[in-house]
Amino acid sequence: MLDLPVYIAAIEGNGHKVLVDTGLSDPAKWSVGNRHIQPPEERIDAALAELGWRTSDVDLVINTHMNYDHSGNNLAFPHAQFYISRAEWEFGAHPSNAQAWTYDLDWTGPELTYMNYTLIDTDDYDVLRGLRIIQTPGHTPGHQSVLVNTAEGILCVTGDAANLLDNFAIPMHVANFVSPRDALASLEKIRSRADRVLVNHEPSIQNFQNSGFPVCPEPGSRTA
Ligand SMILES: [Zn+2]
Repeated sequence: MLDLPVYIAAIEGNGHKVLVDTGLSDPAKWSVGNRHIQPPEERIDAALAELGWRTSDVDLVINTHMNYDHSGNNLAFPHAQFYISRAEWEFGAHPSNAQAWTYDLDWTGPELTYMNYTLIDTDDYDVLRGLRIIQTPGHTPGHQSVLVNTAEGILCVTGDAANLLDNFAIPMHVANFVSPRDALASLEKIRSRADRVLVNHEPSIQNFQNSGFPVCPEPGSRTA
């Protein structure tokens, strides 16, 4: 058994404040199988306040996919434009049985409508200069990851294209997949495109909050 974090990424540049994913909103609701814990300081508004951000400052949000732990706070950002893949939007509305419990369709409300969502049909979609969405299916059919130009090279925010750094190091596809073949191909795609990786459920990421994110591990490099 592992304790896994649920990280979102906050990116600032070109006059924009951007999030990749919006995290978990209601830990009690999702503590059916695994226990979910969210201390007050980890609520999304409190976590952003640590950066000096208000939720209303965020103008762009990229959802890697729409599982509850990656889109749980979308409604907190009615001023933002969201980017998700059309394949994810359509799958989330009619998920396969094994995935159904991970979607709640709580994506729109009075203030956040479908007009806030840009549905992406193409690979290599540039949201801004230096901020690119690549399609990384496998965990879900419409999963996407984000490449960010940083001072340390190209950082990939993987979402659940990788759950842990071990997915790259073994290599081994992610858990709860719709296609293991696609999931393995997506790991190799990220490896070929990114210098470093921010793996949203990797416990060691707590040591790399602002810089020094891990270099993408080579296959066969797992030692523990
Ligand atoms: Zn996840």
